[in-house]
Amino acid sequence: MAFGKTFLVTAKAGPEFVALHPASAWLTALFGLLLSAAAASLVSVLHRRREKLEQLVMKRSSELQERSADLKAITDSAFDAIVMMDALGHVSYWNPAAERILGYTSSEVIGQDLHGLIVPARYRDGFNAGFLRFQQTGQGAALGKTHDLEAIHKDGQEIPVQISLSAIETNGAWHAVGILRDTTERKFADEALRQATARASEQAAKAELANQAKSEFLANMSHEIRTPMNGVIGMTEQLLDSALTSQQRHCAEVIRDSSEALLNLINGILDLSKVEAGKLDLEVLDFDISAVFNHLTRIFAQQARNKGLEFITTIDPDVPRALRGDPGRLRQVLVNLAGNAVKFTATGVVTVRVGLADAALGAIGLRFVVSDTGIGIAADKQALLFEKFSQADVSTTRHYGGSGLGLAISKQLVQLMGGDIGVESTEGHGTSFWFTLPLAQSLSLTQLNPNPLQPTAPAIGKLPTWQGLRALLAEDNIINQKVAVGFLQKLGLRVDVVGNGSDACQALTSEVYDVVFMDLQMPVMDGLDATRLLRSSQATINPGLPVIAMTANAMVGARQQCLEAGMNDYITKPVTTRSLAHVLEKWMPRVPSH
Ligand code: ADP
Repeated sequence: MAFGKTFLVTAKAGPEFVALHPASAWLTALFGLLLSAAAASLVSVLHRRREKLEQLVMKRSSELQERSADLKAITDSAFDAIVMMDALGHVSYWNPAAERILGYTSSEVIGQDLHGLIVPARYRDGFNAGFLRFQQTGQGAALGKTHDLEAIHKDGQEIPVQISLSAIETNGAWHAVGILRDTTERKFADEALRQATARASEQAAKAELANQAKSEFLANMSHEIRTPMNGVIGMTEQLLDSALTSQQRHCAEVIRDSSEALLNLINGILDLSKVEAGKLDLEVLDFDISAVFNHLTRIFAQQARNKGLEFITTIDPDVPRALRGDPGRLRQVLVNLAGNAVKFTATGVVTVRVGLADAALGAIGLRFVVSDTGIGIAADKQALLFEKFSQADVSTTRHYGGSGLGLAISKQLVQLMGGDIGVESTEGHGTSFWFTLPLAQSLSLTQLNPNPLQPTAPAIGKLPTWQGLRALLAEDNIINQKVAVGFLQKLGLRVDVVGNGSDACQALTSEVYDVVFMDLQMPVMDGLDATRLLRSSQATINPGLPVIAMTANAMVGARQQCLEAGMNDYITKPVTTRSLAHVLEKWMPRVPSH
């Protein structure tokens, strides 16, 4: 009350003061003066204090205003809705993003019941129950977490939202703050992603199906092509056995070489498609590694000699002879590598060697190396060699021929057998292909069993003869009938021909035969059914009668089917005099020649 006013303080000497100090009227005046000065300075001190306090209050309130302006700017500019609910469940704050997302303006919702406004009916009971607890304790299962829910927009539509809730206590009452994000776009993006992923896996499945279909198509095509190839190769061989002029012989030899090259290509495609379709089964047989190497020598020694090359095979002394694995596939890889070595070498030597690589438990690690002193392979071409249809040099290919499949197949086969393959080469000096194979050791040498169903050519020389013995041929294709009849007759057999399995069974009940050659796919009754039938009628048909399947179907499963149906052996088309002689040799005694 004293601030902002001027006071005059007067002091008057009373009678008591005069009685005490009778002579001092001037003293009275002095005292009054001092009193006035003290009061004035007290007032001025108080005044300054007040001013300071007022300044402080102004500063603080302007700071407060700034901060709340900052906070408002933040909540106004927030991308997410920020909503506050008071202790009664009424909306107490509603930022512009809430207006945008939920459609209501702030003035429409402040003071309204929040749950009734934006919570879909199906969540309301849960919310209300949770809210009661929240009002009393400030706690709730929904607090401090993020939830994916739906909220109701002003237009009545539900929108997907993500909500995080927290609690604030003011003046002893609990308020809730919700931050709410519109997830419509994210939901769309998620849905689009889900659909894209579903489409991608659908397409991958389709691609896988298409790939399988391609492999099956290739397998079928190669099978279909092998059938007429049987006619071409068979008839050419027979033509070459007849009296020909040198010009005719030259033509027939070109046909033979080309058809053999074609057959190799078809076999290659068949192998690759089988590997790719996962249908190439490996065999597990006891075999003699030296038989595999002898086979190589039989195939390549003469060919190398004709080119003036040396062909040397070596089995290191510590390599066990009796092994267990797939000798047919091992032979195929070696034939391919050795064939290339001879093909791409003009002078010098080709060596095929096997040694121990590494002795692992239960398996013998073998390392095969096929080396030559040929044209070599440029370093930058080596990486692609094992790809399908890749050839190191197109010009050399034109010169040497080839399909570019051999190494791709070799790699697939070696990997399928659990090994690895590689190359070292210097251009102009030669090449070494190596591969490793883990093979089990065969339990006993006496069990050695060169693969009975992969006939190797019999020794070069005079062909054996089965003069006067009788063969029944069941084959529906007329050209193939002629081919097989020609070959069998060449081996001395007398041949009767039937066109299907049923006629074969019929013929066997009325005539006595020494051997049956049976095609697999025939009309009326196929070779497998016919064999089952004749094996079940043992009373009438000699149970020891050899039945040999003769088919263009080179799939591994077919071989097993033949054995299960009761056939003794299996040869694949195109058949040759040698493959027939070889199989006959296994199953029928030769008639001694006179
Ligand atoms: P192809 O049927 O063409 O021989 P391969 O896959 O067996 O198919 O070989 C692919 C290519 O690798 C050959 O065309 C050749 O260019 C090269 N090649 C393979 N082996 C040798 C080798 N021993 N010496 C030189 N080049 C080779």
